[in-house]
Amino acid sequence: MTWLFPRFLAGALAMAAGALLGYWSGGPIHAPLIGALLGGAVGVGVISLIDTVRGYRLIHWLSGSQEEAAPRDTGFWGEIGYRVERSIRNRERGTAQERLRLEQFLSAMEASPNGILLLDTNDQITWCNSVAADHFGLDPERDRMQPVTNLVRAPGFVAALQLPSTTEPLLVPDLRGRGTLSIVIRTYGEGLRLVLSQDVTQRERADAMRRDFVANVSHEIRSPLTVVSGFIETMDSLPLTEVERKRVLMLMGQQTQRMQTLVADLLTLAQLEGSPRPASDRWVPLAKLFGQSEADAAALSSGRHTLRFPGDCPAQLAGNEPELLSALTNLVNNAVRYTPEGGRVTVTWRLRDDGSGEVAVSDTGIGVDREHIPRLTERFYRVDGSRSRDTGGTGLGLSIVKHVVQRHGGELEVQSEVGKGSRFSLILPAARVRASTPRVTTPGEQRSAA
Ligand code: ADP
Repeated sequence: MTWLFPRFLAGALAMAAGALLGYWSGGPIHAPLIGALLGGAVGVGVISLIDTVRGYRLIHWLSGSQEEAAPRDTGFWGEIGYRVERSIRNRERGTAQERLRLEQFLSAMEASPNGILLLDTNDQITWCNSVAADHFGLDPERDRMQPVTNLVRAPGFVAALQLPSTTEPLLVPDLRGRGTLSIVIRTYGEGLRLVLSQDVTQRERADAMRRDFVANVSHEIRSPLTVVSGFIETMDSLPLTEVERKRVLMLMGQQTQRMQTLVADLLTLAQLEGSPRPASDRWVPLAKLFGQSEADAAALSSGRHTLRFPGDCPAQLAGNEPELLSALTNLVNNAVRYTPEGGRVTVTWRLRDDGSGEVAVSDTGIGVDREHIPRLTERFYRVDGSRSRDTGGTGLGLSIVKHVVQRHGGELEVQSEVGKGSRFSLILPAARVRASTPRVTTPGEQRSAA
């Protein structure tokens, strides 16, 4: 209220000064009272004019952007200007803070790995993050305030929108036909809706693979089990001669062996999937791997094939010895199993130009049609199921090989031609290849180097 008294004082002084001046001026014309009245009125008028100018400046400032400071007046108008400006600045600060909070909130929603779509009461898009835009094929800017059903017409999604909110996530096909989306709809505020979407394609695929895998394993185990239980019944119910009994036992042994091999391969796969990548500083001599897999292949072939392995191989591979041996043995054994009698199996080693190493297993066997090649490393995938089983195959061998080589940072290359033969190559990166055994430094050399 400090402005109130000076204002009254200024008004009263202006009026008194005017009246005094008027009284004095009115004397010569014998109308001092009229002069005083007129003078007082002029004094008040001058004060009103000054007020009007100051008020106009303030209104002018208020109707602008208020970026500059309010007019710096004294008294009444100065007080109004100061208070109005202070309240505007406070409000601006509050709005800036709210805007910052909103931006942070929207950035957090934008960073969400799930799709977030906000709809108003008419199902118009008020906001969506880029993940939702990708899931629903929307443009976050262009499609704002568009009815979502005009833009997303997938029946599953439209049907889900008819529900006020969903309790369970709904699975709808990806709108571009690539996979599956899981959608949850929640109501908030007054009839506003939040649509959350998640791409569950990988999860669905993994579930399907797991289901297939369990079905395949069950099938693979059920067949030999049925055979074994049939033989048990036969032995139990029929009197068998010694020769028949030996034959039945031999066949039962074969089926049991088949189940054991399958379980061993399954365990190998599980171990490969669950263990860390092999160390890259454990060097395995290739000659040792060749020697062991040659002995295996010779036993499997029993002289029916010509086997050729590199003679003296000085190279070394960095990695896990049992895994590398299992990969090589699988390839060599496959070559023997899928090559008719009299055929040739050749194993070679070479250092490629980029420093990577290649162990190739070639055969002159039955070969594989081009269309099957991309699927050979799938679990239980076989080109000819009965041939695979008859030769003791589980359908997991190449799957194991692929896992091993990938864990070592390499890849498996396959070339094949039906009736001519196949070539399976393990390619290992340069970092895991040592072309020759490092020379052992003699104590004398060490001393001279020091
Ligand atoms: P399997 O135990 O059936 O041999 P693999 O995973 O080792 O399982 O191989 C998958 C399939 O690839 C085999 O069933 C066979 O049809 C084919 N295959 C693998 N190696 C060869 C090869 N050297 N020659 C021809 N076909 C092969």
